[in-house]
Amino acid sequence: MEKKTKTFIFAIDGATWDIIDPLIDSGVMPNMAALMKKGTKAGLTTLTPTESPQIWTSIATGARPEKHGIESFMVKVPGTDKTTLPTSNLRRKSAFWNILSSPDYSVGVVGWWSTFPAERVNGFIISDHANYYKKEILKDCLELTDNALCAPEPKETFPESLYREIEPHIRYAYEFDNSRLGRFVQLGGEDLKRLTAYSTLSRDECLSVLKYVYIYDESFRRSGLHALKKFQPDLFAVFLAGVDAVEHHFWKFMEPGKFPGVPSELAERYGKAIENYYIYLDEVLGEFLGFYSSGDRVIILSDHGHGPNVDYGTNRASGYWKIASGTHEHGPDGILLLSGPEFREGAVISGASVLDITPTLLALHGKPVGEDMDGKVLSGAFKSAFLEKNPVSTIETHSPKDMGNYVPVESGGEDEYKNKLRALGYIE
Ligand SMILES: [Zn+2]
Repeated sequence: MEKKTKTFIFAIDGATWDIIDPLIDSGVMPNMAALMKKGTKAGLTTLTPTESPQIWTSIATGARPEKHGIESFMVKVPGTDKTTLPTSNLRRKSAFWNILSSPDYSVGVVGWWSTFPAERVNGFIISDHANYYKKEILKDCLELTDNALCAPEPKETFPESLYREIEPHIRYAYEFDNSRLGRFVQLGGEDLKRLTAYSTLSRDECLSVLKYVYIYDESFRRSGLHALKKFQPDLFAVFLAGVDAVEHHFWKFMEPGKFPGVPSELAERYGKAIENYYIYLDEVLGEFLGFYSSGDRVIILSDHGHGPNVDYGTNRASGYWKIASGTHEHGPDGILLLSGPEFREGAVISGASVLDITPTLLALHGKPVGEDMDGKVLSGAFKSAFLEKNPVSTIETHSPKDMGNYVPVESGGEDEYKNKLRALGYIE
């Protein structure tokens, strides 16, 4: 049997070419640089407001938020005045992992927004709640060594039994060696003391944000590698959110001249945090690429770009925007890189949108595009011979009529999840 071409999607919240391009030029993102040479590059027009759950769900469905139903960081519980974190059973449109999963085609998804509770697929899903799993309770469990108290919540992963396997790969703040942040910033003695004292993320403490988002990304990196090795799915997608948060909190140290009141000593010590985070992501990319051959497809994308917050330190800034020196409020483009045998080499295309990812993935797999999708196939990224052989076709919809039948479900990680969103200014 012919070996199937595998597809790897590396999804980075808030990644921007403005930072990646110079890092590639200086040779510190070698994995990305190699893929750039063999792929098609684009800026990715985003949606406004630039809120991650709705955009990542639009990326996954090809549909606008009003159609897919995941409209913000907190969404209304149908038929009530309450709100909830957006869960997968609120989504009213099929995602690419639903559409492509079949008895002959396996998929694996790690960490993607609004994938809890994990849906049934041929393959696996490690949901976006998996790394927040009841850490404090878990800590008690470990100390009590009473396994009966430590039964995992259902639906953190699909299959449910996968949770037990990835749990050792999930990192927790209480066991984290703070000196590891020395790869991103120059830590002073006071920094280490403060880092030890942080029990959660705080929007006022940039190092606490760096610490926690690095831990979250490490959890998905490690559990993703475990699941990828075990399942070797035909399509694998991993989502990492850390760089967006680091950009929000550390931009002023990278470009201190653009902001009032940045102490030069801190600019010196924290000024490389963002760049170093991209370098870390390039290393992670390299680890995942170790499972692929040069004939496979690699797709790298972000939901929106990121830039300096021009209101920072002015009277115009309010709430979180007094604290955040990096922003994506005005919809800077995200990134897209498509590489593999079907895509053009070294090409740059324009006019790509976050809505186009799923239609393009379907065309790549010879599947019809849903007429209810708002995006288009990025035909300019394909070699012409591929599209001649595989003309784009359409189907009325890929989404079952009864999708989005919401049933309340909790993972136990909601408090920490909300705390992270609060520290990033997304919810009050
Ligand atoms: Zn953000």
